[in-house]
Amino acid sequence: MFCSLNNQLPLDFSHIPDCTGIFFYGVIQALNCRKGWQALFMTFSIRKGYLLLMVAVIAVIAVTAGIYFSKRVAGAVEDRQVSVMSWSVAGKVITVDPGHGGIDPGSKGSSGLEEATITLAVSEKLKTVLTGAGAKVVMTRESDIDYGASDGSSLLTRKRQDLAKRLAIAEKNKADIYLSIHVNCFKSGPGEHGAQVFYQPGSEEGQKLAESIQGEMVRVLGNTTRVAKAVDYYATRNSKMPAVIVELGFISNPREEKLLSAPEYQRKQAFAIYCGLVKYFAGNATAAESIDREDVLETLMQNKGHVFEAP
Ligand SMILES: [Zn+2]
Repeated sequence: MFCSLNNQLPLDFSHIPDCTGIFFYGVIQALNCRKGWQALFMTFSIRKGYLLLMVAVIAVIAVTAGIYFSKRVAGAVEDRQVSVMSWSVAGKVITVDPGHGGIDPGSKGSSGLEEATITLAVSEKLKTVLTGAGAKVVMTRESDIDYGASDGSSLLTRKRQDLAKRLAIAEKNKADIYLSIHVNCFKSGPGEHGAQVFYQPGSEEGQKLAESIQGEMVRVLGNTTRVAKAVDYYATRNSKMPAVIVELGFISNPREEKLLSAPEYQRKQAFAIYCGLVKYFAGNATAAESIDREDVLETLMQNKGHVFEAP
């Protein structure tokens, strides 16, 4: 008989995992004496605590996974809806204005990355996805240029000339909307982050457009809770069509600067803006509205080979 817990156990538990071995050891001891029952109670307590911990860990993992997958499913459903509604941009003339360029590189990040480089990269990706859906995209620039006269005018005059020319390009092409792409900067607040869309105070259509794009940037990017805001800017004030300024994020925030430089994130940004446009035009569509099929087909043929999938 083995009454003491120090007694040698006559059974071989070496092939059973530690925890299970302790449990059986306690059971055998309990069958033989009072000390054994105490040991069994202790092993049950250890086992109970262990099980509770396991249940808690599994519950946390299950809830986290549930939230993650429900978000993924909801996101996939939203992307599918955008895909179904993509007809709404077909035939639309959309001016995409990559902010800055030429003598004006815009704001600069700590790594030396310039705003004008990011705005052009995202605008090009936006052009790809929009034209793939049958929209006609008018780019105000496709290289590092500006439209200010090089006649020795002040930088401010040259900047005004540049902005006026960009709006004139949109008007000449009878664009439906004007999107000016920029990057925000707040040197005294390096923690500031997140994309934000601005519209002209008092512009109902500008506000609708801005809110639609902002909503999709919040959904697709998943890293901003900012809301569309009314601010008086030269471009939105002087545009004859609904116009918005899309600030892609803060170049003054080193973490966001790194994101903004990444092609994959730029694609995500372009996709978010595209989703916002699709929803804006779908919301504005009327039963009487018709799509010029030939025009759309021609646009699609011109852009054959361009593929843009949801990131
Ligand atoms: Zn800017």
